Amino acid sequence: MNDRARIEVHTGDITKLAVDAIVNAANTSLLGGGGVDGAIHRAAGRELEFECRMLNGCKVGEAKITKGYNLPARHIIHTVGPVWQGGSKGEAELLASCYTSSLELAAGNDCRTVAFPAISTGVYRYPKDEATQIAVDTVNRFIEGKNLPETVVFCCFDEQMAELYRQAVAALRKG
Ligand code: ADP
Repeated sequence: MNDRARIEVHTGDITKLAVDAIVNAANTSLLGGGGVDGAIHRAAGRELEFECRMLNGCKVGEAKITKGYNLPARHIIHTVGPVWQGGSKGEAELLASCYTSSLELAAGNDCRTVAFPAISTGVYRYPKDEATQIAVDTVNRFIEGKNLPETVVFCCFDEQMAELYRQAVAALRKG
């Protein structure tokens, strides 16, 4: 199978996607916040917060999994992206680690389809082009030679972000 065809770019709200797991760009408390985190907690319902309280937070670059509750997705994988501080504080490694930790949890929970938001590119201010490159390269490297997840969707909230992802994915196909 051509691994590159296993990566898709979608524009829209990640809470609507009927995939095995959606990834949440959470904060270290895991108790909800703004942006995509707030949207996921609202759509999943209050039970999600109860399960999250049992998890004792999450470190930057790591990931934890919960049920999806009222979402069409079966699971939510909560990962905490780095806050952009200029690029010399290990941000790139931490962001890559969010993607690999999430994919490891997805594979370990038999998830065939996983959707990611553009982690750290909102309130955490990671430059969008650099974050996109890390997301696409890290996911591509992970799925090469592995069966799970079969398909990874990059769910972009707007067309501008989707275009960055499409260019990065197209560059993989040429490479
Ligand atoms: P972070 O704190 O990691 O920067 P944010 O939630 O502020 O997280 O932003 C991460 C990305 O998620 C941004 O690109 C933002 O546009 C996007 N986003 C916000 N809401 C949604 C949603 N409902 N579905 C998909 N992406 C979303």
